[in-house]
Amino acid sequence: MNITFCCTDTKAQPWLDGLRAAFPEASVEVWEPGAPQADHAVVWAPPQQFLDQQQALKGLFNIGAGVDALLKLHLPPGVKVVRLDDAGMSVQMAEYVCHAVIRHFREFDGYEADVKAGKWSYRKPRDRQDFSIGVMGLGVLGERVARALRVFDFPVHGWSRTPKAIEGVVTHSGEAGFDTFLSNCRVLVNLLPLTPDTRDILNRDTLGRLKPGGYLINVARGAHLVEADLLALLESDQMAGATLDVFRTEPLPADHPFWNHPRITITPHTSARTLRDESIAQIAGKIRALEAGQPVAGVVDPVRGY
Ligand code: NDP
Repeated sequence: MNITFCCTDTKAQPWLDGLRAAFPEASVEVWEPGAPQADHAVVWAPPQQFLDQQQALKGLFNIGAGVDALLKLHLPPGVKVVRLDDAGMSVQMAEYVCHAVIRHFREFDGYEADVKAGKWSYRKPRDRQDFSIGVMGLGVLGERVARALRVFDFPVHGWSRTPKAIEGVVTHSGEAGFDTFLSNCRVLVNLLPLTPDTRDILNRDTLGRLKPGGYLINVARGAHLVEADLLALLESDQMAGATLDVFRTEPLPADHPFWNHPRITITPHTSARTLRDESIAQIAGKIRALEAGQPVAGVVDPVRGY
């Protein structure tokens, strides 16, 4: 069996070591033009040339949860595109989102500034019941985040394409449920995949439908957000602030207004990192299952886009 590693911006050697340990009987190599045909490939942002050369590929394993960049390419016919299915990402995402929500809810930025200025001051506690949080996308990551937020007794709403039931979470679905979902939320957490249906979904109209003083946490993809619309809503005080981990252009350009905006917190696309050992173990299990003709979780539907 040939397993090919073709990942941009990723140090290959530790992945090769891990995959070779999992498949001592296989050839595991980094792809280069003219390399033998792969049976399975472990990829991140592979070049089109790599895909064009694959005639026998059975599994294309993306080392991330989002497959938007991969689905833009022309894929070999019949190949199964398989995403990472949690592999240690959902707990990181829950940490990140809970941190961002609590930091905003408890006004920790304000306290930090006061302390730096030598001030011992109190702020009025906010009403938790008036601080409802909406999670867009109730998949592997969104569901974990929604459940984690419930631990702190925030009212939590969730929105997905198809109906879902999550204990303690008020769920909405489809276009029909979108308006009610938005109008119930003060904080909006985006965990949707980037597809033609969800591109630009965070815009002046949708963000403007949040409760007054809305707050956005975007941890999915930069192209979900119309950046100028967020800036305008902050400028007019219709929204209170945002925590953003993803951007339309990454790295964020040096002159971008988000860098120094007083009400925007940014992080460099780090909310849920790919954990190598967990990912290799998961991918190895799935390669074995595919080879044995068994079903695997996390197979992407290219028409749906996730
Ligand atoms: P999943 O595929 O497991 O879940 C996607 C969810 O979005 C599902 O609940 C799905 O609904 C819902 N959804 C999709 N399209 C629509 C739509 N048109 N309207 C309403 N709901 C929709 O994905 P994950 O939870 O694993 O990951 C989500 C995204 O997070 C990834 O695609 C990626 O872009 C991003 N991500 C970001 C990271 C970071 O570090 N910033 C790290 C990892 C992922 P249904 O359940 O009905 O199918």
